[in-house]
Amino acid sequence: MSIEKTRPPHGGHGERGITVLLRRMHDAVAEEASAQERLDNLTKVIASHIVAEVCSIYLRRKGDDLELYSTQGLKREAVHKTRLKWGEGLVGVVAKTQRPLVTADAPLHPAFAYRPETGEDPLHSFLGVPLIRSGKVLGVLVLQNKAARRYTDEEIGAAQAVAILLAEVAASGELLDKRETAEVGEMLHRPEHIKGESIVQGVAIGHAAFHEPPTPKHRVFAENVAVEAQRLEKGLDDLRVSVDAMIASNANLSGVSREVLETYRLFAYDRGWKDRLRAAVFSGLTAESAVEQINGENRARMMRARDPYLRERMHDLDDLSHRLMRLLSGETADSTRELPEDAILIARIMGPAELLEYDRAKIRGLVVDEVSATSHVTIVARALEIPMVTGFTDILDMVEEGDAVIIDGQSGDVHIRPTSDVLESYREKQELQSERQAAFASERDLPTVTKDGKEIAILMNAGLALDMPHFKTAGAQGIGLFRTELQFLIGQQLPRVSAQERLYREVLDLAEGKPVVFRTADLGGDKSAAYMKRGVEGNPAMGWRGLRIAVDRPGLLRPQLRALLGAAVGRELYILFPLVTLVAELDRACELLDREIERRKSSGKPLPTIIKTGAMIETPAAAWRLDVIAPRVDFVSVGGNDLAQFYFAADRESTQMNQRFDPLNPGFLGFLKLVVEKAKAAGKPLSYCGEQVSDRLTAAALIGLGVERFSVPATAVGPFRRMLRSLDAGALANWLEPRLQRPESSLREELRKFLTENGVTID
Ligand code: PEP
Ligand code: MG
Repeated sequence: MSIEKTRPPHGGHGERGITVLLRRMHDAVAEEASAQERLDNLTKVIASHIVAEVCSIYLRRKGDDLELYSTQGLKREAVHKTRLKWGEGLVGVVAKTQRPLVTADAPLHPAFAYRPETGEDPLHSFLGVPLIRSGKVLGVLVLQNKAARRYTDEEIGAAQAVAILLAEVAASGELLDKRETAEVGEMLHRPEHIKGESIVQGVAIGHAAFHEPPTPKHRVFAENVAVEAQRLEKGLDDLRVSVDAMIASNANLSGVSREVLETYRLFAYDRGWKDRLRAAVFSGLTAESAVEQINGENRARMMRARDPYLRERMHDLDDLSHRLMRLLSGETADSTRELPEDAILIARIMGPAELLEYDRAKIRGLVVDEVSATSHVTIVARALEIPMVTGFTDILDMVEEGDAVIIDGQSGDVHIRPTSDVLESYREKQELQSERQAAFASERDLPTVTKDGKEIAILMNAGLALDMPHFKTAGAQGIGLFRTELQFLIGQQLPRVSAQERLYREVLDLAEGKPVVFRTADLGGDKSAAYMKRGVEGNPAMGWRGLRIAVDRPGLLRPQLRALLGAAVGRELYILFPLVTLVAELDRACELLDREIERRKSSGKPLPTIIKTGAMIETPAAAWRLDVIAPRVDFVSVGGNDLAQFYFAADRESTQMNQRFDPLNPGFLGFLKLVVEKAKAAGKPLSYCGEQVSDRLTAAALIGLGVERFSVPATAVGPFRRMLRSLDAGALANWLEPRLQRPESSLREELRKFLTENGVTID
């Protein structure tokens, strides 16, 4: 038989089970024995506790090979013989992705690599968990069963908890000899070039600093439980003091950022968290290991949550755990890391408050593994203009603290320990960029009038008070789109009316009398908050979102309208309704607004001087019915991102689709022209919002179609102004008109040629 020993599955997992398991692991490590014997004892203990017929530990070796170091259940002769390359087989995939891998039928998995010497033929279920310490993969823990079954969440959680401890033990040098550890170190010194995704534009050159610094060495198991319990208690007290102090020292932060910080306080005082930490200490762990253990369990639980909001909360908990670890290791309560002068901060995850805590002057760039364009930390990084890239699951594994690093926020490239030529070419690129920035800043007060005298308004998109400093530097003529939903997404719960009103007032103050168009919360789609109970939709972009939610849930829209009316007392108020599809939805929203206005009037409260409403034209249905919609509002705003998505039936989040469908498609341009004409015929001003306007060619074409008002990302204001001042709008309109009938997919190259020949600045 190929399996040395089979064992009927038995319990032992669950909260109590883990405690017992940790104690046994403690005993196994404490025994006087060789490294190999200790490891074998550990696998035995783990296998006997978790419902697994096989428990194996693979450790990382030279050349990133993963070597079977110990097994309970596979053939013994495979130990130190079976090796898998990084990314090879299920074990290699776990190491490479740094994520657990669970499958009910391993041989059917596309990555499965058969190793006859192990005798794993009859095994079907597979659970692999990486052993990670300080962001580096040290090995993989594997559990296997003969029956094809799914491991439960509880079992996966237990395996992750065990893996954290194993990583600790492995890092203590007890499982790898010195030579082997040195070999791994060597691999970390080659120049590396990796490609990720751009999140915030810009080039950054500096030196790597880990956001989560390597955890100071500490013991895993407690020598004296009472002492550890006391240390934990003191650590938690210090943590609360430090969180309170952080909030107090950021008293100038308002609105969303403030709410983010407040959620930290909630977690820091959370009773359940404290109880679980104490239980871990009483099971025999040191305070530090207890923190790692409980954080690992939390991460495992929250990573499985499908809700992006919940996953975001995981970052808050991670942050608190790191703070607590630093306090336990004797660092000061004010625990911001000392950064090098030119830090490229590298993090697996990072919360927005953590970023705000650093000295901004020292941060050149950010590499964050788990992040998206709508993550809270992205919003803050964008506001602080810190170039940022993502998309590297294994970067922490390639870079060491202090290594030279370049990040290119435009292409998503990262160069680690770059050669001198690469460094030189990026220095040049950076210089050119700052020259450009300075030139745009010096042009910010120039009139936005085309060469042939057509006035164009350039306004800016924003969503947080943090965006507002760009308003002045960019020289925008107003905020053409304030995405109010960002405040809803960041907070722990629905923002109170008072918090909403505070944010809107602050934005109006910062806009210094220039118009601000507040779009009511465009929730749903990918912008879903945890407190919004909603079913799973197959196609959320076309589901319950935008105005659809607003009219179905007046409890959401009415308080927001109240907050807007209150914030704009004595000033002009522009309210924009998102994703209008049916005329009836717009009517309902306007009705709710009228009711709120009446309410204020009847209670004698003052009102804004002017209240103007607008409809966002983002669906072909609304574009088609614009003649019926326009008379009902004071202005219309084209949401080009969504309108193009629905016109082409192409997901706006998909890079593949973006490359396939160009907004400079003559059909789409002709469709937009119709919208522009309908708005003109109704006598209603039209503005165009959408990221497409960051592209000079598209912006020029839209001017050629007759659009006179735009709202663009802050970074696009300068280049747009320069382009339009060199443009003859009339000549372009004449050039464009006959081409709207053309069958080509895109007019891009022809338009580029026309504009270049006519001296228009498009780069
Ligand atoms: C749009 O759809 O073009 C738009 C401006 O709105 P958002 O990008 O927030 O959906
Ligand atoms: Mg939209």
